[in-house]
Amino acid sequence: MKVDRFYNRVAETMDRSEIRRIQEKRLRQTVAWAYERVPFYRRKLEERGLTPEDIRGLDDLQRLPFTTKDELRTLYPYGALAVPTSEIVEIHATSGTTGTPTLGFYTSNDIEAWAEVAARSLTMAGIAKDDVFQITPSFGMFTGGFGFYHGARKIGAMIIPTGAGFSRRQIQYMIDFGTTAVCAVVSYILRLTETAREMGIDPARDTKVRKGIFGSEMWTTEMKKKISQIWDMDVYDIYGFTELCGPGVANDCYIHDGLHVWEDHFLVEVVDPRTGEVLEPEERGELVFTTLTKEAAPLLRYRCRDISYIYDAAVCECGRTHRRLGWISGRIDDMIKVSGVSVWPSQVESVLLQHPEVGQEYQIIVTRQEGLDRLKIVVESRHKLEKHEADRMALKLAKNLRDALMTSVEVSVVDPMSLPRQEVGKAKRVIDERGV
Ligand SMILES: [Zn+2]
Repeated sequence: MKVDRFYNRVAETMDRSEIRRIQEKRLRQTVAWAYERVPFYRRKLEERGLTPEDIRGLDDLQRLPFTTKDELRTLYPYGALAVPTSEIVEIHATSGTTGTPTLGFYTSNDIEAWAEVAARSLTMAGIAKDDVFQITPSFGMFTGGFGFYHGARKIGAMIIPTGAGFSRRQIQYMIDFGTTAVCAVVSYILRLTETAREMGIDPARDTKVRKGIFGSEMWTTEMKKKISQIWDMDVYDIYGFTELCGPGVANDCYIHDGLHVWEDHFLVEVVDPRTGEVLEPEERGELVFTTLTKEAAPLLRYRCRDISYIYDAAVCECGRTHRRLGWISGRIDDMIKVSGVSVWPSQVESVLLQHPEVGQEYQIIVTRQEGLDRLKIVVESRHKLEKHEADRMALKLAKNLRDALMTSVEVSVVDPMSLPRQEVGKAKRVIDERGV
């Protein structure tokens, strides 16, 4: 559906030259702020013989050093702060499943900026004051719940802050309160779909939900199409991560061709993940962000480990002038090397979902047998199948996967609902049993 509303039309449609002017001014301010207030950045700049005066504009950006996730971990908990803790009003953290968590800090102005970009993103997805908006990501250290909350507060939508879990109650609330818009971690909307069906509820027929905004996990165009059909809703993709701000860094418009990144708040580059060399538009690599308005913990050239690219064309039919990112195809950490071949979970999902009989969940399992890597995909069928039907489907999927991944794959098809589900947080679909 065409959505031609803006939350902040002036900011969202300003000329490219104006965006550049704002970025240059804010970059100079951010570098000076970081240098003067964060000893970690002062040291990094000094190591390069730089002072804030050396960074006059965007052309000097590449002179600045990168910041990595590992460096941020060494600053845990308060080493990245540019303000006293008394100025901090909110703190968030990554799940820390891969080590020390990394943190996001917010001053009052930072919350205001986060709410602004989240409100732009939600408005872009058609969410307005008259919507009943159910927020299913958790309200906790994860940025999801609060990010949507701050944005929706600005818009004035009626917020149903369910947070994560209790899926049957979520569905009941959807019906009782007449929820019209929902946000979720991608795998959780799939979980809600199953729950609705278990309760004998057809999401398209029996609920009023017609707008959905999902993110926080890699997902494919095929998955978007599937969710959109089941719920009869417009599906939007939102992007963000803890260290920058949660949901609201970028979002797709009704054209559904890439994610507009709010360039007056975030400066984005794409680099070769191995060499750090800056890549051209349309070249896929690691996203690197510099914050332009963050007070609490500014970040210079932060390598966020997500893989995507920047669109070459600036102007979009929706009227927004902020450049677009391609769909996030995964995180560097998600890439699996199988016998020397790089396999992305997104490639696997893309192939699986082209098959109409594929159900909700799948797992990618890598093992090593007699010194050889083996890739196995376990996938649920949509309906319960006879053994010979399941075997036939497995053979077909194995062939299609081999053609796409250029490596041999063993597939087994299992009954619907037989793989584990995640009630809270992100799905774990890759299991590497090779050890280290
Ligand atoms: Zn657009």
